[in-house]
Amino acid sequence: MPEYLKPMPVPDHITETFWAAARQHKLLIQQCRDCGRNQFFPQSSCRACLSENLEWVEASGSGKVYSYTIIHRPPSASFEEDAPYTVALVELGEGVRMMSNIIEIEPDQVRVGMPVHVVFEDISPTISLPKFRPAAT
Ligand SMILES: [Zn+2]
Repeated sequence: MPEYLKPMPVPDHITETFWAAARQHKLLIQQCRDCGRNQFFPQSSCRACLSENLEWVEASGSGKVYSYTIIHRPPSASFEEDAPYTVALVELGEGVRMMSNIIEIEPDQVRVGMPVHVVFEDISPTISLPKFRPAAT
């Protein structure tokens, strides 16, 4: 595995379950046991009703591009070889939105509303990043 020079996620007591599942290529979101709402990103309480009675549920991994931008001038040298690349807000079928990259497609081919599916990029022995590619049609 080549050395990974980009910023690395640092799991904490709230996100460690998410990252452990991601390493197994499973996409988890939080669901509130009290009001039933799904949420992402992970927090210690429900953003809708403030309950701390949350559980992790596996998302389908399917969603659509809610919004996106194409990065031509990367924020740091470690992203230079990727440019141009797409940073998108993906709305999962479960209703939550997730910031990620759209890969395996030229950035100028990405469209709002495009169906996408999660794929995982293994960047270290413990971290895998959820990314999205166009869904097979
Ligand atoms: Zn709730």
